[in-house]
Amino acid sequence: MLKYTVVGAGLFGSVFAFEAAKAGHQVRVIDKRNHVAGNIYTKQIEGIQFHQYGAHIFHTSNEEIWDYVNQFAEFNRYTNSPIANYRDEIYNLPFNMNTFNKLWGVISPLEAKVKIDEQRAILNGRSPENLEEQAISLVGTDIYEKLIKNYTEKQWGRSCTELPPFIIKRLPVRFTYDNNYFNDKYQGIPIGGYTQIVEKMLDHSKIEVNLNVDFFENRKELEDDADKIVYTGMIDQFFDYTLGTLEYRSLKFETEILDIDNFQGNAVVNYTDSENKFTRIIEHKHFEFGTQPKTIITKEYPEDWEKGEEPYYPVNDMKNNDLYGQYKNMAKENSKYIFGGRLGMYKYFDMDKVIFEALKTAKVELRLK
Ligand code: FAD
Repeated sequence: MLKYTVVGAGLFGSVFAFEAAKAGHQVRVIDKRNHVAGNIYTKQIEGIQFHQYGAHIFHTSNEEIWDYVNQFAEFNRYTNSPIANYRDEIYNLPFNMNTFNKLWGVISPLEAKVKIDEQRAILNGRSPENLEEQAISLVGTDIYEKLIKNYTEKQWGRSCTELPPFIIKRLPVRFTYDNNYFNDKYQGIPIGGYTQIVEKMLDHSKIEVNLNVDFFENRKELEDDADKIVYTGMIDQFFDYTLGTLEYRSLKFETEILDIDNFQGNAVVNYTDSENKFTRIIEHKHFEFGTQPKTIITKEYPEDWEKGEEPYYPVNDMKNNDLYGQYKNMAKENSKYIFGGRLGMYKYFDMDKVIFEALKTAKVELRLK
């Protein structure tokens, strides 16, 4: 009898499996996909590490997590400095003095603040009632119109006046000439891609990996075979949607291999206009400063999610959080199951947070110090 069956060979499942195997337990990891690593999966095409499920940049301020992930790969010095393209006008992100200078010609932080204050005044001090008003109250009308409005509407498939203000409670705004998107102490891309990280975690004599296996098609057998199940799939699906279906946003990726060595000069370019239906173009080679003769680009189109499609982002509004809360209570009723990861916990987690959660779960479950 196995001690654990882990459903999902993504980051959560793999960290848990690695820790359980180290603690001496026999573990089986299954995944319905034909590869390990879940959404952080990368593979080499034309000598370039291709991020199959969207751009992944590792960043954290947690030294323990940084040390943990560095046992499995060496990270490069990549710093995320995305660019926005608004009808061929190019702006630096996150909103910083470079952005303000390009927009308004202002030189000093004081001039930039005055400009934003002038534009905010149209709200007459009212509390924001929707996302549009919230954005204007934070950065004024110009940045809202050129850099936020269309991008957000494409992302959510709804008008900013219909979206709640809390979605952008805070916006990264900086009054320095600093294009580094993240404030974290550590960031980088694993040299040679992310898949090796998960492969190394799962390369253990006590771990057996079975790919192309859907939990729901083999449920009885898998449940009978192990003491405990660590489940990282969709929590509502686990309970056969008995209380209702949780909502997600999905994405469609359109990838091209181009016969040129450099398409856009940056790994990430956000398209903040309404004409292009994609939200961004990723040029994969720039994550590793690639010099290959060809290049690979991916356009990212946000989509509504329907059953059968990839559920990328949980929609954590009140209605869905409430429904998730009910499923979570059902989950607590049977100690054979542990729910984890972005789908099992219905929450968007960056990679460092998912590692943190998996280690926390492992510590409790495996009684580690
Ligand atoms: P997943 O990676 O989704 O793994 C779950 C696995 O379970 C999947 O492989 C799935 O096939 C499997 N599974 C599900 N149901 C079943 C079933 N019934 N039977 C068998 N197997 C099943 N984080 C960052 O830190 N930086 C970034 O730049 C970043 N960019 C992102 C970009 C995008 C577009 C997205 C969607 C996420 C991004 N993330 C980023 C977040 C990152 O992807 C997650 O933190 C991480 O992948 C979560 O791991 P997980 O194990 O919880 O989920």
